[in-house]
Amino acid sequence: MAEAPKSPSPRPHVLIVPYPAQGHINPMLQFSKRLAARGIRATLATTIYLAKSMHVDPTAPVDVETISDGYDEGGYGQAKTPDDYQKSLETVGSRTLAALIERLEESDRPVHAVIYDGFIPWALDVTRRYSKVGVVFFTQTCAVNNIYYHVQRGLLGLPLEGPVVSVPGLPPLRPSETPSYVYKLGSYPAFYDMVINQFINVDEADIVLFSTFYELEKEVVDWMSASLWPLKTIGPTLPSAYLDKRLDGDSDYAINLFESTADVCSSWLNSKPHGSVIYVSFGSMARLPHLQVTELSNALVRSARPFLWVVRSDEQHKLPGHLSTATDRGLWLIVPWCNQLEVLSHRSVGCFVTHCGLNSVIEAICLGVPMVAVPQWTDQTTNAKYIEDVWRVGVRTRMSIGEDGSEIVRSDALEECLREVMEGERAKEMKENALKWKEKARAALDDGGSSDQNIEAFVGQLLRMINTIE
Ligand code: UDP
Repeated sequence: MAEAPKSPSPRPHVLIVPYPAQGHINPMLQFSKRLAARGIRATLATTIYLAKSMHVDPTAPVDVETISDGYDEGGYGQAKTPDDYQKSLETVGSRTLAALIERLEESDRPVHAVIYDGFIPWALDVTRRYSKVGVVFFTQTCAVNNIYYHVQRGLLGLPLEGPVVSVPGLPPLRPSETPSYVYKLGSYPAFYDMVINQFINVDEADIVLFSTFYELEKEVVDWMSASLWPLKTIGPTLPSAYLDKRLDGDSDYAINLFESTADVCSSWLNSKPHGSVIYVSFGSMARLPHLQVTELSNALVRSARPFLWVVRSDEQHKLPGHLSTATDRGLWLIVPWCNQLEVLSHRSVGCFVTHCGLNSVIEAICLGVPMVAVPQWTDQTTNAKYIEDVWRVGVRTRMSIGEDGSEIVRSDALEECLREVMEGERAKEMKENALKWKEKARAALDDGGSSDQNIEAFVGQLLRMINTIE
């Protein structure tokens, strides 16, 4: 009897596992869309808690499944300490990720590869248990990660000594220009461990991806790929509508952890002159000291320019009374969350006061908006250095010491920066640089650009590996 024809193997299927935070989900989800456009099926695994508050666009070409961090009711906020959270994420996360892979194995969409966030290296152990291809995806810059790599391998001794820190591929840095976990050793031990441990098993990953793009970090990418691993930069990871426009319908991140106020913002922005508005946002996590909110408010009001300020609901109680009303004679608009991409691409926006979270920085670069950098912690201090001195698309604010000993940006320092970026001698140069980067970012993802080629090569490599394993 003739052998029955083999059923065609199912479409290649990757499981994408970001660290559970908006700034990690966005780039990994966007990358999934690029894979989907190349015939790879992608499923995003997020935590049960975050899945509850996600607003997922049903047309997104990506499935969503859940794992657990052990805090299904309150996520990170439910944990007693950051250390408790990290431990629980690893133990419960490993277990539930394994269960998810097993469940999918029994379905019509078994997993062939796991693309996991560098922040959760334990995902590689789970991946290996099931003999899947393991791809690590880093969501911070190569510059920042090269610093962490050097610390993890004992190549950069801590505490830092001397006025200059030297790391290959990076410009000389002052200690305060390295990530805060490095120069303020002991400030957040659980997060320090997390960023350093990204490199404990990186050499065992099958493929190494970074969410930035080659042109933005040429020197350090060249050094890392020649000396460490053949890494691939695949970004920027903004929706295609803001870059190459080659993915139909990809105009939004499709997953938002907060409800946005897009209509209010765009009609308010429409009423403002070209390049006149200061946009202010500190991202999804930063909690500003009360005094810092006061100083920011004073600077913004005194600037006499219209400003749009994102103050999350849990931060709004810090606003001074005169600003607690959402708007005043059209001079300002305060919202709990917005569609940042729409705001940054609006012609009325003249500059972005940012905490320098990498997604925000890359979005500003891709949309040609100069920045005033007010870094708070983690990699933001290094991103701010690059904004001012390497990419030359903005200025950093001067820090002072507040009454309680914490670092703070005073209103006069912020006002000075706002003037410099909006109308100062270097304003024109910063705007021109921002527009140059905007074009390079678009070109990287467009047909034949550096990231486009890397994604193509990644897909080829992935398919070859999947076939070898099967
Ligand atoms: N974001 C947004 N609306 C807001 C503020 C932020 O959509 O009102 C998005 C922003 O576009 C970015 C992400 O939230 O993609 C924030 O990531 P980032 O790395 O800048 O900072 P984090 O929140 O991780 O500190």
